[in-house]
Amino acid sequence: MSKNNYRLEELEKLVSLAKRRGIIFPSSEIYGGLSSVWDYGPIGVEIKRNVKNLWWKSFVSERDDIFGIDASILMHPDVWKASGHLESFSDPLVECSLTGKRYREDHIFILEIETKKENKIIAIEASDKNEAEKLVKEKIISIIPLIESESKENPSPDGGTLSDPRNFNLMFKTFIGPVEDSSSTVYLRPETAQAMFVNFLNVLNSSRKKIPFGIAQQGKSFRNEITPGNFTFRTREFEQMEMEFFCSPDDDEKWHDYWIQFSLDWFKKYGIREENLMIRKHESEELPHYSKASSDIDYLFPWSWGELETISNRTDYDLKAHSELSGKDLSYFDQENNKRFTPYVIEPAMGADRSVLAFLCDAYCEEETEKETRTLLKLHPEIAPIKIAVLPLSRNEKLSEYSRNIFDRLNSLYTTQYDDTQSIGRRYRRQDEVGTPLCVTIDFESVEEDDSVTIRNRDTMEQIRVSSDKLLEAINDQLKSF
Ligand code: ATP
Repeated sequence: MSKNNYRLEELEKLVSLAKRRGIIFPSSEIYGGLSSVWDYGPIGVEIKRNVKNLWWKSFVSERDDIFGIDASILMHPDVWKASGHLESFSDPLVECSLTGKRYREDHIFILEIETKKENKIIAIEASDKNEAEKLVKEKIISIIPLIESESKENPSPDGGTLSDPRNFNLMFKTFIGPVEDSSSTVYLRPETAQAMFVNFLNVLNSSRKKIPFGIAQQGKSFRNEITPGNFTFRTREFEQMEMEFFCSPDDDEKWHDYWIQFSLDWFKKYGIREENLMIRKHESEELPHYSKASSDIDYLFPWSWGELETISNRTDYDLKAHSELSGKDLSYFDQENNKRFTPYVIEPAMGADRSVLAFLCDAYCEEETEKETRTLLKLHPEIAPIKIAVLPLSRNEKLSEYSRNIFDRLNSLYTTQYDDTQSIGRRYRRQDEVGTPLCVTIDFESVEEDDSVTIRNRDTMEQIRVSSDKLLEAINDQLKSF
C-alpha cells in the first residue's frame, strides 16, 4: 500500500474512532447530518477546550503585551465594506454541465496524461498542482490550473464541461429585526480579525498601553465554502484563534519573523512532530489585497499538506480603511519620538478546529501487540482530555471505597475519570483510544496488604507500583516524561 493510501485509510479510521469514542459527531445526525458541520462530543470538547486554553495561555495570559477581547459575531455591515469582504471575499465558482456539481475554479487542474494506450486530457480536483499530480498514476505530460487554461471546452472532473466562473461571496447573510430587506442585512463574521481593528481605540484608551501590543480573540467564524470537506479541515462554521499585533511600520518585518517562529514553536511544544510541520511563504500573486507578506504553517494531513495558520503582515490597510469609512482617527501618537502614524499589523491567524484535527492526526497510532492491534492517541498530556483514569480491578465494595478515595484526591488536581465497567483490558484499550496518559489501577493487594497502586503508562504500557502516599509525586514525574 502506498504511503498516501495508507494515510487516507488512517483518516477514515480516525473519523470512526472519533464517532465511537465521543470526540466528534456529524451534526444533526438523526436527521441525516448537515453537510460538513460537526459537533464535538464529551471527549472532543475537552480536547478542543485544552487547545484553545493553551493558545490563550501562550498568546495572551503569559504575556504583558497582548490583551484579549470577546466580540460579537454580528457586526455593523460597514465593517465588511471597509475590510473589502463585501467586494472581494469570494471564490470563483464553476459548475459541471453533467452533474451540476460545483467546484472552486482554483481547485481544478487540467492534466494531459499518457496512459498505456493513448494521450488524453482530464480534469481533476485538488488543492494544488502537487496534489493533482499525486492523484494520477499515469505519466503526466502537462498540468495547468483551470484558471490558466485557454481551451474553450473546459472538462469537468465528472465528465461534463465546466461553466464560466462566477464570483460567489462566502459570507452568510441574515437580517436584523423583523423586516428582511437590504437595509437590515447583516453578516455572520467570516473572520474574527475585524473586531480587533474596530476595537483598537477602545483597547488603546482603556489599557493605556504603548505600541507594540496586540489584541487577541477566539471565536466562531462562518464561510459558505464551495467545497468543504476532509472531516473538520474545511467546514462552514469553525472557530478561529487570532491576534492582531500593532507595531511601528519600521518594525514590521522583525515582528513578522518573530510571530512565525513563535507559532511554529507552539505547535511543536504541544507535540506535533517537526517533520509534519512546514513554513510556506506565499508567492506574491497569492497575497490577499491587504497583505504585504504572508507565511503559512502547514501540516502534513493524511491527504496532503494543509494550512493550520497564516501569519500575515496586514500593514496599515485595515486601520486606514476603517478610519476612512467611519471618520474616526485610528492613528497612534508616539510620544517618545513625537511622531504620529497608523500602526502596522502582524496577524497570526490559527484555526482551532484545524489545529485539533492536526493534533489528532499526529497522535493517532496503531501498534501490533501479541494479541491484537492497539489503537492509541499519543496526545501531549496538556491536550489529552483525561489525564488519569482510576480503574478498580473489579466491582467490589472495599475496592470501590478505596478507589473513590484515590479518585477524589486526583480529580481535584487533574481531569480524572473513574471507570469500573468491563474487563481491565478493555478499559485500558478505551483509555488508550482517547489518549489518557496514565491509568491508576487498584487491586485487592492495594486494599488489604500494601496500600499501593499500579500506574500504567499509555505509550510504553509499563506498569509501576507506588505506595499511595507517593502517588502524586509519581504521577507528576510520569506526566513530565511524555
Ligand atoms: P484556506 O486557504 O484553507 O481557505 P484561508 O487562508 O482562507 O484558509 P484564513 O482566512 O487565513 O484562512 O484563516 C485563518 C485560519 O482559519 C486558517 O489557517 C484555518 O486554520 C482556519 N480556517 C479558515 N477557513 C476555515 C474553514 N472553512 N474551516 C476550518 N478552518 C478554517
